[in-house]
Amino acid sequence: MLRLSFLIIVSIAITACAAPSKVKVNYDPTEVSAEAALQRELALKKILSYKKRLNTVSYPILKAATKFCTAKRSYSMGARGSSSSDYKDAWRTTANKIFSGDEYTVTWVAEKGPAAKSGLAVNDRILSINDVEFGTSNQQHKKFYAEASRIAKNTAPIKSLLVKRGDQLLEMDIRLETICGYPVVLRESDAVNAYADGKRIIITKGMMRFAQQDQELALVVAHELGHNLMGHLDKKKTNHMLGTIIDLAAAANGVSTRGTFANMGARAFSQDFEAEADYVALYYMNAAGLPLEGSANFWRQMAAEHPGSIGTSHSASHPATSERFLAISNTIAEINHKISAGLPVEPNLGKSK
Ligand SMILES: [Zn+2]
Repeated sequence: MLRLSFLIIVSIAITACAAPSKVKVNYDPTEVSAEAALQRELALKKILSYKKRLNTVSYPILKAATKFCTAKRSYSMGARGSSSSDYKDAWRTTANKIFSGDEYTVTWVAEKGPAAKSGLAVNDRILSINDVEFGTSNQQHKKFYAEASRIAKNTAPIKSLLVKRGDQLLEMDIRLETICGYPVVLRESDAVNAYADGKRIIITKGMMRFAQQDQELALVVAHELGHNLMGHLDKKKTNHMLGTIIDLAAAANGVSTRGTFANMGARAFSQDFEAEADYVALYYMNAAGLPLEGSANFWRQMAAEHPGSIGTSHSASHPATSERFLAISNTIAEINHKISAGLPVEPNLGKSK
């Protein structure tokens, strides 16, 4: 009976779809293209706000974890920028409005970072680094980015930074600071996911919406940094070769992820690696001066959204959300004990936890 009524509903739905529409809506093509331009502007601003939040949350972690990050460090002025030449076609027109034409515009500055201390501000335009101008041609842009990359690798210091603010020209002297050399990148996907590829940390837009509190997003970033710093990818080369790792979202085991992750390929890390990444993540967060209490709630939220991830299963790639909540709570207690006992607050690596 249930099946019969289902079939009837389906056939009604199909008939309804096939019926010709009775309402004819006319659009003025000029108005449509003006509306499209407005919507592209909203979309670009939205992406910039995602990136701003991601940078603000992840930068202090990358900075604080430097002491654990001996193999791969980078040199940063604590600022990000963009120009309309990073965009194509209609998006370039939109970007031109936002990035003051084709100038290299500062989009984010880390609070109390080197750039902020030297007075660099959002919307400033960087005209040149070490006398290498951003210029107007793609070739010149490449030279500018190459100089910025030399600076990040510490093969060249910043000698001068020429900045335009309104009509004012400013010359700044910025001292770089050392951070972990794993850039945190936003992926424009609605899947609730985050992963590490040994070189970068990738967080989806879907994950940023899921991790509503910055503290939860910090846990995700620190967890992925843990995979990179603990060399989990080197230890599991087969995964690395597949390129992309389904990570936190695969914690929702028992939930079919086939549709959502079909384009993401690859298998997840092992349960031991997951537990280890959670464990060190809390030490990185603590080093960054972030509050730890409440961060385990991320896993309660994940459980509420994906009930299939609550139960334990040894065949699953990730520990159950119930185990992860408790493991995180225990690690927080361990860190608090070390702080109150005046012990060094370092992860107990190579010892039983
Ligand atoms: Zn993981």
